[in-house]
Amino acid sequence: SIVVTGATGHLGRHVVEQLLEKVPAEQITAVVRNAEKAADFADRGVKIALADYNTPASFDGLFSAGDKVLLVSGNEFDKGRVHQHKVVIDAAAAAGVALLAYTSAPGSLTAALADDHRGTEEILLGSGVPYALLRNGWYHENYTENLAPVLEHNAVVAAAGEGKVSSASRADYAAAAVAVLTGEGHENKTYELGGDTPWSFAEYAAELSRQTGKDITYNAVSPEALAGILTGAGLPEPLAQILAGVDASIEKGELVVSTGDLSRLAGRPTTPLADAIAAALKG
Ligand code: NDP
Repeated sequence: SIVVTGATGHLGRHVVEQLLEKVPAEQITAVVRNAEKAADFADRGVKIALADYNTPASFDGLFSAGDKVLLVSGNEFDKGRVHQHKVVIDAAAAAGVALLAYTSAPGSLTAALADDHRGTEEILLGSGVPYALLRNGWYHENYTENLAPVLEHNAVVAAAGEGKVSSASRADYAAAAVAVLTGEGHENKTYELGGDTPWSFAEYAAELSRQTGKDITYNAVSPEALAGILTGAGLPEPLAQILAGVDASIEKGELVVSTGDLSRLAGRPTTPLADAIAAALKG
């Protein structure tokens, strides 16, 4: 079977949808915490398995020898994600899966956000399980799903200086994951995945201006100022610090990915940022 964790999340949904175009539904297992959220998949013949990264026993017997598994990294920053991911890796090792692909972060990323990914990669490589590291770069959607304040103030606020981001759509990263899960020869490979065309925040503001007909400018601030703005907008302090740290990494060029791995695996160019903006503006 092909087994996908986080299947009811944004990325996981794209992966299952794209798998359904390539393999029979009964060969796909969606690992979810809430069966109701996966009812549409079950209706289409996808097998549903209930498990939670916080409950190791829920993964007992979930995998079979020969399975190809996609471990989608969790989003519970306060629950010890490395430990959560180890639960899945241990179960995969015990079952003797054929491949465990993990959605990681770019190898160049030194921001604190990457620590859980480096920790998980270390455990995965030490487990002896055939692995594929899908080091996903940034999503377009990190920006395009948060346009309300930008349109309200006619300003893109970031602490990234002139730094660029090789972002791509979630659907692009899902296509790479599907290629790895359904193809051959991906054992013990590390892929640095990012969009074909890196962009700066000034270019992002210019494209927003073009598409909205408004005059939207890039307001470059310091990481400290950004953290202050984000906490002022109601974000918890630790999250604000994490996001400010990401922008500092962007200024240093750590989210530029120039391997071409993503379009090569997907078999097509990555989605242009302008397309993601257009989709977001349409609602
Ligand atoms: P989502 O937040 O939409 O999805 C996270 C998924 O993880 C959900 O399906 C969620 O389950 C599942 N999950 C979380 N905690 C547990 C748990 N304890 N046990 C089982 N499942 C759990 O994120 P995306 O799909 O957009 O992105 C996937 C991952 O990529 C994120 O979780 C994060 O690690 C990382 N990420 C990457 C970004 C990038 O730009 N590259 C940006 C943001 C996140 P449920 O559906 O039940 O909530």
